Amino acid sequence: MTTRLPPPLRIRAPRQVLDGFGRSVLASCRYSRPRTVDELQDVVSAARREGLTVTFRGSGRSYGDASLNASGLVVDTTGIDQVERWEPATGIIEAGPGLTIEGLWRRTIEDRYWPAVVPGTMRPTMAGCVSMNIHGKNNFRAGPFGDHVLGLELLTPAGERLWCDREQNPDVFHAAIGGLGMLGAVTRVKLKLKKMQSGQMRILPLAASNLDEMFAQFREHLPTADYLVGWVDCLSTGRGIGRGEIHRADYLTAEEDTLGQDGFHVESQGLPSTIMGVSKGVLWRFMQPMLHNPGVRFVNTAKYVMSRLGHGRTYLQSHVGFAFLLDYVPNWRLAYGDGGFIQYQIFVPDSTALECMKTVLRTAQEAGLPSYLGVLKRHRPDAFLLSHALDGWSMAMDFRVTAANRERLWKLTERMTQIVVEAGGRFYFAKDAVLRPADVIRAYGAERFETFAAIKQRLDPENVLQS
Ligand SMILES: Cc1cc2nc3c(=O)[nH]c(=O)nc-3n(C[C@H](O)[C@H](O)[C@H](O)COP(=O)(O)OP(=O)(O)OC[C@H]3O[C@@H](n4cnc5c(N)ncnc54)[C@H](O)[C@@H]3O)c2cc1C
Repeated sequence: MTTRLPPPLRIRAPRQVLDGFGRSVLASCRYSRPRTVDELQDVVSAARREGLTVTFRGSGRSYGDASLNASGLVVDTTGIDQVERWEPATGIIEAGPGLTIEGLWRRTIEDRYWPAVVPGTMRPTMAGCVSMNIHGKNNFRAGPFGDHVLGLELLTPAGERLWCDREQNPDVFHAAIGGLGMLGAVTRVKLKLKKMQSGQMRILPLAASNLDEMFAQFREHLPTADYLVGWVDCLSTGRGIGRGEIHRADYLTAEEDTLGQDGFHVESQGLPSTIMGVSKGVLWRFMQPMLHNPGVRFVNTAKYVMSRLGHGRTYLQSHVGFAFLLDYVPNWRLAYGDGGFIQYQIFVPDSTALECMKTVLRTAQEAGLPSYLGVLKRHRPDAFLLSHALDGWSMAMDFRVTAANRERLWKLTERMTQIVVEAGGRFYFAKDAVLRPADVIRAYGAERFETFAAIKQRLDPENVLQS
């Protein structure tokens, strides 16, 4: 009896143009979307046989090129999204790699559980959150996503299924979380969720007249807040540099909650379908004409004035409403036009962050390429090998990319990168399209990459997996 080999990947995995979320990096990649772990194993083995490198992909919500591979195969694991086990008694869930944060909270909210750490959008998958070790607006308190992962299964290119947790294969566990899918496919994630007393949170908005004031207000609220996030007007100059607005959010106790179980219904958590009477689906078209320096300066000034009016006035908001602000306007990324945008997020130690961030803001302004959106967060260090977090602060900045500014913008990011590295800072690979290997090694230290490379050599000696 003869066994017939499946058709080659050039037939089974035709090329598709894929993008990073910022749309400034596109690549034509061989693409496959398996529906089971066996199919996933089969396609990775085929790539190995045919000499193709493999990059895994979740929902493609990384801004840069992390889940693209022009010369190899992209394996999308969103099709493997089943919940294998959900235990409302303990808050432990086990699920396939493709389950999204949205699928997760929809499944658990009525049992009064919420993911302890979420990104600013609900579209990312469990595997994407693991592989980037994402952080939330509560990183200073809850740590990264990985701190809540109890264990995970990795499928290595050789076909071995390896369970990793803090006892079994702890070195692989701490390297695969934040390891960009370069050690194996994440095929199962066991996660501990957080029990909630209320479906709502109390939000306190605070205006800050410059970055110094924003840092001071963060410092005042850090010891007691559950979440803190700052919007930074990256076009403000002089004494007002880095002005903006902080949102503090706190869990309610059962006594403070007025909605009871109603607040935990999926419908009570939904995002509004219209904003100021306008259907959300078309809103990005209204944003598009404003996305140039004078337009953003005008919008930011209006937003800052509004923030002064709302200063200190608390209100209640659902978990979804607070956590996923960036999902309010579908397709907002299209407003940046054909060239898209890059997001560049810097992480700087507490002792140097304030001055470093002001210098970065000024450097971008002087180049005539200010960021159109700035977001400030506070972080704490964690135990993961390639962690971007440190005892310090991050600022994420969105820069519009056009054919005319692309080269200047890349040069600007090189200058900003030097400023950050000299301040002892790091970067976040989920938000990167511009970093050069030498800068990454300077920022993280060669030792971490040597340790990572040694683990990779063990699990993927042929270097099949790339990111
Ligand atoms: C609007 C918006 C807001 C965001 N806010 C935040 C935020 O607040 N905090 C934050 O930390 N991040 C944030 N992000 C970034 C986002 O959370 C991360 O990029 C996340 O990794 C995206 O998950 P994904 O499923 O889309 O994975 P992708 O972007 O497709 O892939 C991410 C990485 O995971 C790897 N990967 C994917 N699937 C697998 C698998 N099965 N096995 C192994 N490796 C795999 C890929 O190779 C890649 O290296 C935001 C992104 C957007 C678009």
